[in-house]
Amino acid sequence: MTNLSSRSSKELLMLKEQLAAQYKAYQAQRLNLNMARGKPGKEQLDLSIPMLTCVDSAETCKAEDGTDCRNYGGLDGLPEAKRLFAEILDVQPENILVGGNSSLNMMYDTVARAMLFGVNGSLPWCKLDKIKFLCPVPGYDRHFAVCESLGIEMIPVEMQENGPDMAAVKHLVESDPAVKGIWCVPKYSNPEGKTYSDAVVDAFSSLQPAAVDFRIFWDNAYVIHHIRDMHDHLKNILDACAAHNHPDMVYMFASTSKITFPGAGVAVLASSVANITEAKQHMSAQTIGPDKLNQLRHLRFFKDLTGLEAHMQKHQAILAPKFSAVLEILQKELGGLGIANWTEPNGGYFISFNAPDNCASRIVELCREAGVVTTPAGATFPYHKDPRDRNIRIAPTMPSLDELRTAISLFALCVKLAAVEKLLAREPSLV
Ligand code: PMP
Repeated sequence: MTNLSSRSSKELLMLKEQLAAQYKAYQAQRLNLNMARGKPGKEQLDLSIPMLTCVDSAETCKAEDGTDCRNYGGLDGLPEAKRLFAEILDVQPENILVGGNSSLNMMYDTVARAMLFGVNGSLPWCKLDKIKFLCPVPGYDRHFAVCESLGIEMIPVEMQENGPDMAAVKHLVESDPAVKGIWCVPKYSNPEGKTYSDAVVDAFSSLQPAAVDFRIFWDNAYVIHHIRDMHDHLKNILDACAAHNHPDMVYMFASTSKITFPGAGVAVLASSVANITEAKQHMSAQTIGPDKLNQLRHLRFFKDLTGLEAHMQKHQAILAPKFSAVLEILQKELGGLGIANWTEPNGGYFISFNAPDNCASRIVELCREAGVVTTPAGATFPYHKDPRDRNIRIAPTMPSLDELRTAISLFALCVKLAAVEKLLAREPSLV
């Protein structure tokens, strides 16, 4: 296909008519499809149904040391749960605090504790005039929502091929003591599916922050969530920071939300022993302990890391065809037109799509008016403001394969329509 921008106005007008007719045909189908959020599909959820009956008697409620998990206690999780998460995250069990059902909740609480109490003896962040967090963009909207809700100013930093622009990160972190944190999804990032290179991890660990209480919020949500046989590798940042004499600079998070059940999984915080001890001190006023029965269910269901990896292979078998279908349709419909680019991740839950500048909102609107809901334009940027209005997060996991094909075909049509409208708008007499 030839580049759209090299076509004459007459050709573009003809194309617009064809596209508009195809769009009308989609509208007539009265579609009702949702690609808005990265939720697992039903088939994926079905994989974990046997977990629900793993713990079903007084005997099966006992942890390995005989603890009766039906009762209170165990603030930081069962030792065997710590061991399993330590293996997943490549850290030691003493670095692990097993929490409740949501890592986002643990992230929010970690930031909120810093606001209320400070970090390792620093002044509570709420006592300071201004707190700033760096936000690699495009990024995860719920990280941005945590900052917004707690009144933390967000500074966008460009994502590059191998992670955030570390020259910009270094400059901001090392020159401004109000910069207290950065959000990172270091493996199969949300939404681009990129994994930070070793050089980027090294650059993080060798930062010399202006604020002693600067912290990296390392959200490893997709640590074992592969969709291709080729797996990305992520260097261990806790070890790297310890080697650079910053053992306390990172809070790492993960959960089983997209392994078993979102909302009914198990979440973890991994950090230095000092940070874990501090978190536990504050948490002891907040809760008597997490849901140990759910930890047991997960342990009995997976048995060990090998069992967990076998389970993730089943997710991969469901997800790989969905991601392939999206990529195939995008390439077939948009390849060579010179109007868009998109990522092709080896794991995670998303494909990040860049439309022509100032077209994302229009594409989302066109999709919605034809019955397909996508993630809102701007969602992948702090304050919902994509300065180029071009990024859209595609979430292929939830719809069935057939629904997904329909939704992405319509999406590609809307991209073409918006791009043609934009090109024609350069010559107002034609529109
Ligand atoms: N972090 C990232 C990067 C995510 O994409 C998600 C889910 N969309 C979460 C955290 C939420 O995890 P949880 O269910 O453990 O709160």
